[in-house]
Amino acid sequence: MWRTYRRTVEILQAVIVTGLPFLFINGESAFRFDIPTLKLHLFGSVLWMREFYLILAASLFFLLFIAFVTITLGRVWCGWFCPQTVLLDLNESIASIVGKKYRKPLQKLILIPLSALVSVTMICYFVPPAETFKTIFVAPTITAFFLVLWLLVYLELAFLGRNFCISICPYAMLQNLLFDKDTLVIEYDVSRDATCMKCDACVKVCPVGIDIKKGLSSACIACAECIDACRSMTAKRGMLPFPNYKGRMLRPKTYWLGGATAIAGIALILLIWSRPAVDFLVIRDNAPLPPGLNRYAYTIHNNSGEKRALELSSSDNGVILIGEQTLLLQPFSAIHGSILVKSKGKREHLHLRISGNGIVINRETAFL
Ligand code: SF4
Ligand code: SF4
Repeated sequence: MWRTYRRTVEILQAVIVTGLPFLFINGESAFRFDIPTLKLHLFGSVLWMREFYLILAASLFFLLFIAFVTITLGRVWCGWFCPQTVLLDLNESIASIVGKKYRKPLQKLILIPLSALVSVTMICYFVPPAETFKTIFVAPTITAFFLVLWLLVYLELAFLGRNFCISICPYAMLQNLLFDKDTLVIEYDVSRDATCMKCDACVKVCPVGIDIKKGLSSACIACAECIDACRSMTAKRGMLPFPNYKGRMLRPKTYWLGGATAIAGIALILLIWSRPAVDFLVIRDNAPLPPGLNRYAYTIHNNSGEKRALELSSSDNGVILIGEQTLLLQPFSAIHGSILVKSKGKREHLHLRISGNGIVINRETAFL
C-alpha cells in the first residue's frame, strides 16, 4: 500500500524537479539561479543577490519549513522526496522488470543515462536551458561541467547510494537533533513480539539494511517498505503489520512552528510582491572634473517580465545630460551606466528621473 503512494509521490517529485528549469513563467525558468547575473528566478519573479533582506527572508522561511516538516513528519523527506531516494527507487523499479538474475548489473547500466539526465538538469538550474543544449558539446566550460557532474553523480549513485544517507548526509544528522518523542517514526510493535513470525521479510526489503525489530535506528529513512513487506505476511493470518507509523502530528509544537512557517512564507510573498517593477540607483562619481560638470553612475533593475524602454532625464532647469538617455531593459535584467551632467548655474542637488511604460522614478543626489 505505502509503496504505491510512495511511487506516485516520487514520480511527481521527479517530474517537478526535472521540469522546473524548463517550465517558463514570464519568459524565464520557474526556478533557476542565473550565475552570470547572480539572480534567482522564482516563479515569475526575480531576486537579486543585492536584495539581502529578501535572501534573508527566504532563508528564514526555508529553515522554519525544514524544522516544521522534520519535527512533524520525521524522515519523510528522506524516504519520499529526497532526489537520491527517488532516483535509486526508480532505478530499482525499472531494473526489477527483468527479474532478479541481471538486476544488479542492469541497475548500474540504467544509472549511466539517468546520471547524464541529472547532470543536464543540474546545469539547467544555473544556465538557461536553451543555452545549455546549444552549448553542451560546444562550450568547453559547459562540456567539462556536464562530464564531471555526470561522472560524480554516477559514482555517487552507483557505488555510495544509500550509504550516503547513513554516513554522510548532513540533513540526516540534523534530524536527530530535531526529533522529539511525538515525531512520526516507523516503529516495531514490541508488545506483539511473541506473535511475530520471524520471517525477516521486513529486513530483506529494507533499502538501508536495518532490522526494524531491533528498535529505532537513526539510519531508517521512513520509506515504509518494511510495513508493506510485513503486511504481505501478516494479512494471510488476519493480523496487522508489526512495524507501523507511530507519532502524534497534531500537537502544540507543530501548531506554533507551522504558524511561524506560514507567517514567514506570507511575509516573503508580500515582500516580493510589494517591490517596485523597476529599481533606480544613482551614485555620484568622485573623480575630479571641471567645475559645473559631474558624472553619475546608475543601475536600473527590471524586476518584471516586461521589456521596458525608459528615458533618463532631469527635472532641474539649466541642466544638460551628456550621454545615452534612451535605455532599453530586457525582462528581469539590469543595466549599469554613467552619465555626465552639466549645470549652467551653481546648485547643490540634482534630480534625475527615469520614465516610460507608465513608470516614473525620481532620485535626488548631490551636485558639486
Ligand atoms: S526500517 Fe523500514 S522504514 Fe526504515 S528504512 Fe528500513 S524499510 Fe524503510
Ligand atoms: S516481516 Fe513482520 S512478521 Fe516477518 S519478521 Fe518482520 S515484523 Fe515479523
